[in-house]
Amino acid sequence: MKYFGIFITIFLFAGPISGQDIFEQWTPPQNNAHLQFLASDELKGRDTGEPGNDIAARYIAIQFEAFGLKPVPGLDSYLQPVPLARVSPQDHSVEWNGTKFEQGQSFLALSEDEFVGNFESVFLNHGAEEADYEGVDVEGKLVITLMGDGDNKSPQAAFGMRKEKAALAQAKGAMGIVEIFALQMPWTMLSNYMGRGRLDIDQEDENADPFFYGIINLEKEEIGKLVAGDLGKMNFNYPGMLKEKSSSNNVLGYIEGTDPGLKADFVLLSAHFDHVGTGTFGNDPDTIFNGARDNGIGVVAVLSAAQTLVKNPPKRSVLFAAWTGEEKGLLGSRYFVENPPIELKKIRFNLNSDGAGYDDTTLVSVMGLTRVGAEKEIDEACRKFGLKSLADPAPEQGLFDRSDNVNFAKMGIPAPTFSPGFAEFSKEISKYYHRPGDHYENLNLNYLDKFWKAFIQAAYNIANMSQNPQWLTGDKYEAAAQELYGKN
Ligand SMILES: [Zn+2]
Repeated sequence: MKYFGIFITIFLFAGPISGQDIFEQWTPPQNNAHLQFLASDELKGRDTGEPGNDIAARYIAIQFEAFGLKPVPGLDSYLQPVPLARVSPQDHSVEWNGTKFEQGQSFLALSEDEFVGNFESVFLNHGAEEADYEGVDVEGKLVITLMGDGDNKSPQAAFGMRKEKAALAQAKGAMGIVEIFALQMPWTMLSNYMGRGRLDIDQEDENADPFFYGIINLEKEEIGKLVAGDLGKMNFNYPGMLKEKSSSNNVLGYIEGTDPGLKADFVLLSAHFDHVGTGTFGNDPDTIFNGARDNGIGVVAVLSAAQTLVKNPPKRSVLFAAWTGEEKGLLGSRYFVENPPIELKKIRFNLNSDGAGYDDTTLVSVMGLTRVGAEKEIDEACRKFGLKSLADPAPEQGLFDRSDNVNFAKMGIPAPTFSPGFAEFSKEISKYYHRPGDHYENLNLNYLDKFWKAFIQAAYNIANMSQNPQWLTGDKYEAAAQELYGKN
């Protein structure tokens, strides 16, 4: 009777059978062990370029091998080396109309190459659009602009624009661009931040013409005078940034799909494994930023997906990636996109996992949920484990464009980010986000078990879709998709 009872119970609660149940033979992966290791103090916050980061990469590579993933052709292991350089500004000053502007105090040079000469300067308002250049000859001159575009005053927006503005000025024949500091933050905050130097991909771009980019801090009256009058010449004797070579690794592995036609295409499952290392936060005696949430949880999503899908391969091939350097400016994923070991047009979808933490264990928050043509597949996966999917919480944070997925989106690949549940950037989130308290010990493992399964199921659903997912019509990345995949 006892056995019979159990049999009935299992039979009744097994639920409807829709396709293969990939969790039927689910031997619990060692998810909690992976997370404990990655977030351990010994890894010292997995800072890019530091030993703790290399150990984490090695650990993930060993797991990929143990699960039976294949290394990507062309790479001799599961590691994709990412050449990096630590670039830091050197002391110098710029002379303009008889005034000296010292690096750090009232001037910040942000370009890497040496820049020397005496240049005519032209004021172009924000210099953010073609109209600003109408009727002005900037050939061989230096362009002076106000930061941002006048509409959005946030530092992120202004910094997000600087590459485009520089490219526009360069296309018009200018030698450089100097932006007038006009952000709602103190100058010292910016100059301290920039003065520390940064990690960047170490890649000589031989075709690039030397082009200067700097920011100048002026008093309001000075700006008025400049705008009204003759700007005169700006005299540069900039030695360029100091460069120290460094390196790190992305971790890559794949499984082949089961469908003879669709297996040529890939679904990419990714998460960054680096974090922000060590430092101090307020009076907290703890100096290790363990990064259990950011992004230990995401790495374990990729690891457990690899372990599960290698035994239950879907129709499309699946590429698994753990990126380095996300916290330094999405470096590892950018390097992959610029040096792809697999043709980018074969990657039809990127399900990325990253997050600051969670404050709602009934949810999965998905940046881009309604934009990438797989809402149903993701939502069904979440509901299977009693979770709801929520599209793009905290829109003011611009989260879609702040993780590695954006490097793929820019190339046209539909690329949402699958994050632990939150509906807004609440106190509970900021308590752990980039703080030393982001520990394994204060995680809700019961919730994470469901989160990870939902991630795996979503990946499986997407990798089995009969048609490749497409951006929603009119999305800002739709044109890039047409360029990558061709018009449908
Ligand atoms: Zn992150």
